[in-house]
Amino acid sequence: MSAYTNEQISHLVDGTLDWDTTFRMLSMPKDQQRFVQYLAALQEKVSFPDRIILPLGPHLYIVQSCQDKRWVTQCDCGHVFGDYRENWKLHAMIHVRDSPEAMAEVYPPLMAPDTQWQVYREYYCPQCATMHDVEAPTPWYPVIHDFEPDIETFYQQWL
Ligand code: ZN
Repeated sequence: MSAYTNEQISHLVDGTLDWDTTFRMLSMPKDQQRFVQYLAALQEKVSFPDRIILPLGPHLYIVQSCQDKRWVTQCDCGHVFGDYRENWKLHAMIHVRDSPEAMAEVYPPLMAPDTQWQVYREYYCPQCATMHDVEAPTPWYPVIHDFEPDIETFYQQWL
């Protein structure tokens, strides 16, 4: 018996399931078939011809390029962020909220964090302006590469 319902799978494909749950689902070995279904459903939703290897976020994927077979990080819109082992964030448009004025755009009055201690870094696709990630680090913290998949091992174990 699978631990997840068809309804959850369809939420996953619609991008309405939160990413903690998503990664729990993807890391459950017994849900191998679900994962294959999930990839197929994702592939139907995107307009690019490249094959999805692994989703990284609601609009961001590792794909195998249909042109040169390389594995790259790619946006919904087809924009390529580079080799999948590189940190795609370094190739994104970055908006940093590091002033009280910039924080006031996303926080109610007096609720914003002190920007001496915490800033927001928002990562956007340079082509379609989809926001792919947000970090809330201390100002001096380097850009975080939070997901470095070992895809060969991943696929050997999975498929
Ligand atoms: Zn894009």
